[in-house]
Order: sequence, then structure tokens, then C-alpha cells
Amino acid sequence: MFVRSRRNLTYLFTISMGSILIAFAGIAYYLVVQQQLQAFDDRLYADSKVIARNPLYRLYNKRWLLERRDVPIFGDIPPINNGFAYVRWYNAKGELVDFTGVSSSKKLTVAPGFQTIKISRNRDGVSAKKELFRELTLPIIQDNFLKGYIQVAVPLTPLRESLNRARLFLTLGLPATLGTIGITGWFLGGLAMQPTRRAYEQLQRFTADASHELRAPVAAILSNAQVALMPPQDELEQHFRLENIAEIAKSMSNLINNLLFLARQDGPLDNASLKSIDLVGLLRPIAQEYQQQAVGQNLNFTFHLPESAVNLKADPNLLKQAIVNLLGNAFKYTPQGGTVALRLLTQSHRAIIQVEDNGIGIPEEDLPHIFERFYRVDTARSRQTGGFGLGLAIAQQIVQAHRGQITAKSLLGQGSTFQIELPQKV
Ligand code: ADP
Repeated sequence: MFVRSRRNLTYLFTISMGSILIAFAGIAYYLVVQQQLQAFDDRLYADSKVIARNPLYRLYNKRWLLERRDVPIFGDIPPINNGFAYVRWYNAKGELVDFTGVSSSKKLTVAPGFQTIKISRNRDGVSAKKELFRELTLPIIQDNFLKGYIQVAVPLTPLRESLNRARLFLTLGLPATLGTIGITGWFLGGLAMQPTRRAYEQLQRFTADASHELRAPVAAILSNAQVALMPPQDELEQHFRLENIAEIAKSMSNLINNLLFLARQDGPLDNASLKSIDLVGLLRPIAQEYQQQAVGQNLNFTFHLPESAVNLKADPNLLKQAIVNLLGNAFKYTPQGGTVALRLLTQSHRAIIQVEDNGIGIPEEDLPHIFERFYRVDTARSRQTGGFGLGLAIAQQIVQAHRGQITAKSLLGQGSTFQIELPQKV
């Protein structure tokens, strides 16, 4: 799926960039053609004017006009750069008076100006291949009187050669540039898809884990229900099965709530859902509740809360959930006779909540992963305690939603300390 999307992105990128490139190359080529033709015409015009103004060209120098020379034969005649295909002189009535090079009809048939024509350079005009020429017809005006016309033509070969070179450059350069654009597109496509790919993989893993977690309790419910549906032989057994079903359903509902929470709450909370709360007021009842529970579990539970209020902006229910998750774990993973402590302190505009225990601890290699969804250090020990590996992920999501951070320190066999740091209301 990602390869296909990446390929599509590359195609789109190459097509769009390639179209822009081709359009630019087309415009650039058109401008070059225009500019070169203009320069070509300017030179033809300048040379034609020199010939028109100097009758000596017609008298002595006719054949020389057909050759391409930069130096005039007579010192006082300005040089001409073009080698002409023909030069024709017409009188004011447009009748051919004289010519050199390719012959023509006796009458001037075209209006003054430039035109591109196709003729054969061969004087009989029979056998030779036709070539492209630029022709200029220029009126000769002396003392405000029309004296006649001169018509000249030069081959367009030099212009064509230069344009051929430009075309060759474009023909070779365009595919190479398109290839480079394609490779760049493929690379950029990969880069752009990375976050989506990561999010997708995470979602896939999450879905797989969630379905896996739900499969076992559903199977347990089914088997218990099948036994309970059989003709009752032992009422107690039937009751036990139904109790099992209720217990598993409760745990499933718990898991579903957690999953829904993780799916719903993402990113920082908006200001509207935050309330000004006193953290001491929030923690005290939780601590008292756990103190009672500690007695039942034979744990030594202590809590240290500041005398004065610790105010901050938070969603009290969410924050309570995060703290309960940490305390719940500390109680779960600390054997009888152990100690669990809850502390609240403040440090440079930050509120710090610590949950410390001297329980079983977490192996060093597992510590970086414990906040990942469905991560359990040891499936066996968590299964015993009924955990799904979501408690810490939820706590972390809540803390991050409050723009805070959660960290864990632990030594295997010696205990763990979880710490929540929250920015305090200023
Ligand atoms: P669970 O529901 O399995 O407890 P959590 O996300 O709350 O999931 O915790 C992830 C894992 O981290 C647990 O499976 C457990 O192995 C380990 N863990 C969390 N808290 C503690 C603790 N206080 N002491 C030892 N291990 C802990």
C-alpha cells in the first residue's frame, strides 16, 4: 500500500514538475528562436542598407556579394557579413534592373519587408534540394524619392544549426532532468510517507494487540456459557460459570474503556476542559482510600502532601486516573509487607507527584518500553494481576495532555519510582 502510494506520489511529482519544466523549456526555446531571428534580421537589414546606399556594389562587386567575406574589396565600401543567395535591383516601378545569384521573374511581386522562403540555390532551380532562406525587400529612397528596390536573401542554415544545437541540448537534457526529478520525487515521497507509515504501523500493532487481548476473554465467556447452558446437574457449578462470565465481562468492559480513552484523547487538552484545581485537595482522598486498601493487602502506605495548596490547571478526573494507575501498579507489584509512598512537592513552578514502592521492580531492558501500549514486562506476572499493559500508556497520555512528563526509575528486586511533573499555574 505504501509502495503504491509512494509510486503515485512520484508519478504526480514527476508529471507536475516535468510539465512545468517542459513549459519553461518551450518558452525558453521560443524566446531563443525569436531573439536569434531578430539578430539575424538586424544583420540582414544592416547589410542590405549598405548595398542600397552604395551603387558600387551593383557595378563592380556583384559576385563578391555572393561570397561570405568580412573585408570589402574597395577601402571606402563598408564591409558586409552575409554571403547572399541573391541580390536583385528593381526600379521604382518594380521592374528587375539587375541581379546576382539566383534569378527571378522580371517584376517585383512581394511587398517590402522580411519573409522566409524555400528555394533552390541552383541557378536553374531544377535539380538542387530546396532550402530555407530569409528574404528582405527594401525600398531605396534618395532625397525623399523612391529610386527603386533591392531584394536580398541569405540562407537560414546558420540559424538552423544554432537552433538544432539548442534542440539537441533540450532533447538530451529534458529526459535526464525528468529522471532526476523522478528520483527526487521517489526520495521525497518516502520522506513524506514516513510519519503516516509510522502512525499506520502503530495503529496496526494496536489493533492486533487489542483483538488479541479480546480474543481470550471472549473464548472464556463462550466456554463458560456453553457449560452453563447444559442441563443443570450441579447448581453451584452453573452459578460459578455465570459468575465467571460476569467477571470476564467486567474486565473486558474495563479494557474497552481504556482502549476508547486511548483512541479519543490525543494531544494536549484545550483550555476549556482545564479547571483550576488544588492538587493537595485532589490527592488527599485518593491517598486515604489507598491507606485503607493497604491494610487489607498488608502493605505499609505513607503519603506526604504539602500544607499549603498546590494550584494548577488540569482536568481533575483525568489526573486522578493517572495517579490511580500508578498507585494501583505499586500495590499490584509490591509483595505483602512492602512499602508504597505517595509524595507531592513543588519545584520552580512545577508540581511533582512521586509514587515509590519497594516491590519487585522492572528489569533494565524493559524500562524504556513500559509506557508502550500493551507492553508487559512479564506476561505471566501481569496476567496474575489482571493487567493489560495499558495503565502506564494511559497515565503517560494524560500527563502529556497536561503538557507534563512522566518518568520511571526502577531496580529489579528493589522497587520502582514513578514521577509525574506538571507545569504549575502561575
Ligand atoms: P499492567 O496493566 O500490565 O500493569 P501497565 O501499563 O500499568 O500495565 O504496566 C506495564 C508493565 O510495567 C506491567 O506489566 C509491569 O510489569 C510493569 N510495572 C508497572 N508498574 C510497576 C511497578 N510499580 N513495579 C513493577 N513493575 C511495574
